[in-house]
Amino acid sequence: EASTLSRIGLAGLAVMGQNLALNIAEKGFPISVYNRTTSKVDETLQRAQSEGPFPLSGHHTPRDFVLSLQRPRSVIILVKAGSPVDQTIAALSEHMESGDCIIDGGNEWYENTERRIQEVSNRGILYLGMGVSGGEEGARNGPSLMPGGSFQAYNNIKDILEKVAAQVEDGPCVTYIGEGGAGNFVKMVHNGIEYGDMQLISEAYDVLKNVGGLSNEELGEIFGEWNRGELESFLIEITSDIFKVKDDLADGGLVDKILDKTGMKGTGKWTVQQAAELSVAAPTIAASLDCRYLSGLKEERENAAEILREAGLKEEVGAVKSGIDKKRLIDDVRQALYASKICSYAQGMNLLRAKSIEKGWNLNLGEMARIWKGGCIIRAVFLDRIKKAYQRNPNLASLIVDPDFAREMVQRQAAWRRVVGTAISAGISTPGMCASLAYFDTYRRARLPANLVQAQRDLFGAHTYERIDRPGAFHTEWTKLA
Ligand code: NAP
Repeated sequence: EASTLSRIGLAGLAVMGQNLALNIAEKGFPISVYNRTTSKVDETLQRAQSEGPFPLSGHHTPRDFVLSLQRPRSVIILVKAGSPVDQTIAALSEHMESGDCIIDGGNEWYENTERRIQEVSNRGILYLGMGVSGGEEGARNGPSLMPGGSFQAYNNIKDILEKVAAQVEDGPCVTYIGEGGAGNFVKMVHNGIEYGDMQLISEAYDVLKNVGGLSNEELGEIFGEWNRGELESFLIEITSDIFKVKDDLADGGLVDKILDKTGMKGTGKWTVQQAAELSVAAPTIAASLDCRYLSGLKEERENAAEILREAGLKEEVGAVKSGIDKKRLIDDVRQALYASKICSYAQGMNLLRAKSIEKGWNLNLGEMARIWKGGCIIRAVFLDRIKKAYQRNPNLASLIVDPDFAREMVQRQAAWRRVVGTAISAGISTPGMCASLAYFDTYRRARLPANLVQAQRDLFGAHTYERIDRPGAFHTEWTKLA
């Protein structure tokens, strides 16, 4: 009988679930699938036939679905995060037994996973919260997988995950992340870093287009060229492709016709909230989130463009433009983008480390960089260098003081300052690049003006201060002495 049972099950057959199920089946693991709306089950069966045939069986009720699985059962859930996950767990777990495992592959808030781990543990059911990155294409052909929770549950399906994940030269893009909600948390920070990357790329585009005067054709070429160097990454590659697409409804490039309003689903906001909770500075990621909020205020911005005389900007841009060496600007922007990106990753990694310490997750930061090398949206050649930086020194205080990255940043700072300075003079906002540069400049200063802030705090709140030349806490009656 065991031979007719499936090795694993997947419930939730929207974009992600359907493609991940086909990926698993294609790797030769018999899989059962289920979806609340059963037409999606039949749709998935049809795809398994036409793209395969793959060993995939469809089920129309939770009971049939669960009972079609080998024990201990492993069931992946890929439904909308939040209460749909609770409802799906309720429907499925009714038919599950001690030792079986639920794997939530959605973008879930890590505390929901920790609550569910507790809830199902009463019945001996194991639980994994598994971040899945790579969108539709990744799910179908090889995502980056970030499973956290029960180590035993992970071991039950390790062989499947390692085959299904994206493959890079140093292995499959999956590793056991840590206990509790560690997998969801790492996926959340991955998304926060993704926000930062996308913002920085959009700023590079803005400067090249509006100060450098580059056409979409030129931009497509430049990003294509950048994708053959140190910036080589999925996001740079797709950016190059985007500039090459012509509008099929009107003249010109399609990108110029897209409304400048960005959507979001919450993981970037969670990242910034967590950074604040843990007292970790993440200004580049925060700037990218702020930009999404500001982008949403389209009408207000159009109004402000009148009141604050954006039209007057033309002269400023014109003045800056007239003195611009286009070739040099392009090269400077490339360097500014790279340096800004390192700062953003340093912030994300520091957030992971802070949370790991708080929760006792024992996250291996080098491994996090390794499993992001393939499959996911932030996949990039330079993640290998991040991996190596943490391998060299697992206690690295910040990526930007790793000797290799430090050298690169120092080398690029002149170009970086030219880009930010040029953009400021031209009135072209570059909040991500500015945030990264300010982060760099602040972090590397041995003495900051925080002495004055501390003096103010002592003056109005008797908060006391320390001195640089002797130990102890001091308080001064400032107003009497002034
Ligand atoms: P989705 O649009 O987030 O969710 C649709 C799926 O959820 C459908 O299968 C739907 O079933 C099911 N569902 C919704 N409410 C339900 C309920 N109350 N009870 C049972 N099922 C319910 O799907 P998705 O885009 O494939 O994403 C799935 C998860 O992966 C999400 O957490 C998402 O954030 C995450 N994710 C998505 C991407 C991406 O690129 N799309 C990338 C990484 C991670 P019905 O068909 O019956 O409505």
